[in-house]
Amino acid sequence: MSANHNILRFRDVTVHYGRQPALESVTLDIPCGSLTAILGPNGAGKSTLLRACLGWMPLTRGEILIGDAHPEHALPRLAYLPQRHAVDWDFPITVRGVVEQGCYPALSFWRSPSEQERSRVDRAMEELGLTALSGRQISRLSGGQQQRVFLARALAQGADIFLLDEPFSGLDLAARDELAHILVSWEAQGRTVLAAMHDLELVRRVFTRGVLLSTRLVADGPLAAVLAEPSLQAALPPREAARQAEAAR
Ligand code: ADP
Ligand code: MG
Repeated sequence: MSANHNILRFRDVTVHYGRQPALESVTLDIPCGSLTAILGPNGAGKSTLLRACLGWMPLTRGEILIGDAHPEHALPRLAYLPQRHAVDWDFPITVRGVVEQGCYPALSFWRSPSEQERSRVDRAMEELGLTALSGRQISRLSGGQQQRVFLARALAQGADIFLLDEPFSGLDLAARDELAHILVSWEAQGRTVLAAMHDLELVRRVFTRGVLLSTRLVADGPLAAVLAEPSLQAALPPREAARQAEAAR
């Protein structure tokens, strides 16, 4: 295994929707085993950057490498958590049913999970405290529990790089604390998290690195350096910027 195995590399990454650029010439390295917050105003390209890692966005220019591999060859390593509002929480499926989906597409629908797959599902549910909720419909879970189900599915998949789009949005305070705790423990286990974020207080508590986007890359690196970036204020949603200015006084 080469030294590059543990780097997520963006080289001149450019993505357009029609003629409009959503990302322009983004070049950066993200070391694996770190928690990185992706910051930037609405429309900065945060979601686009996450989806591009999965190979879902055709690049106009440039390339993304996961270790030495192109995304399509690294898919089992990558798990994506969409924004909560993008999920149909009324879909009739149990907690365990969702977590088992982590074993697809390795599992075809006419074959039940192997012993090994079953134990991977068990371990993922155990780690996220879902064992007792195994048979419950996802529509009957709290927001925090729903989020944990999707994290468990990602673990069952065997992923080690987690792409999370606004994972704290819509969670109550207790659920936010719980998720913060989970992500910090993941870093200690060498897992990599890339999360689009806008709450700087949470970013400070949880993340160790930052990427500031505004279609182009504005700053990246250790969190403190990114948060010291003068253009950060301009990059925040107005409410958050006002809160920051208040806190700095
Ligand atoms: P963010 O997640 O930072 O808010 P996005 O990655 O969603 O930003 O969007 C980046 C830019 O691409 C924005 O200008 C947005 O309007 C545009 N965009 C995003 N998704 C689409 C789409 N499906 N079709 C057309 N334009 C899009
Ligand atoms: Mg977004």
